[in-house]
Amino acid sequence: QLSVRLMKVAEYVQAGAVVADIGSDHAYLPCYLLHNGTASRAVAGEIVKGPYESAKKQVREEGLESKITVRLAPGLEAVEPADGITAVTIAGMGGSLIASILEEGKGRLQGVERLILQPNVHAKAIRQWAAQNGWHIAAEDILKEKGKIYEILVLEPGAEEVQLDAKQLLFGPELLKQQTDIFKEKWQREATQWRAIAERLENAQQTEDIRTRREQLLEKIALMEEVFADEN
Ligand code: SAM
Repeated sequence: QLSVRLMKVAEYVQAGAVVADIGSDHAYLPCYLLHNGTASRAVAGEIVKGPYESAKKQVREEGLESKITVRLAPGLEAVEPADGITAVTIAGMGGSLIASILEEGKGRLQGVERLILQPNVHAKAIRQWAAQNGWHIAAEDILKEKGKIYEILVLEPGAEEVQLDAKQLLFGPELLKQQTDIFKEKWQREATQWRAIAERLENAQQTEDIRTRREQLLEKIALMEEVFADEN
């Protein structure tokens, strides 16, 4: 049984897609996409030998060896032009790592119609990468599973019509519009942590670095208060 999180990622993969799942671990996501008929073929990429072997084993056991190619490679180096990839999924890593995988592999994104990304933290890094590289946010989603909250970002080629502002970069333009209960819960949790850290920084010795970090936190707290005040 696939996690609710990966099932949600799968929902955003376009029908008939040729998928590259980067950091695939057990290759559960591509196996699911092949079995349910969403994807026609897939590549599962892994940088670490152990998970790569797990992916190979899973694909073999599910009888999908003719449809899923498992490759041991860093990031988008798992993708070759002949694969004809139309969708890339990257899930279960930090947003900064996902953004760096996209940055390093952007030469391999030709023909890709959709990036479906699920950062565990720091989705902002992905929104910033998108803004700098001519991709726009086609959809965003947020879900909670076993007490953890996850964001999903769907990017498509073509720049945003209007540049995202600081609030949209941090909270997500679509998530801001939706303002679901899970969204509110996520940012209330974050704000509690930010306030605690800001307080500690206030009491610490005031070096340049400490001052900057505190200011950045206070800026984020102010943005958050604006978002929640907008509601009323
Ligand atoms: N995508 C799966 C999921 O969402 O359940 C697995 C997530 S697992 C926490 C992250 C996986 O990404 C690990 O198996 C790790 O080896 C792999 N990984 C980390 N950095 C990578 C990179 N630069 N290229 C390919 N795989 C990477």
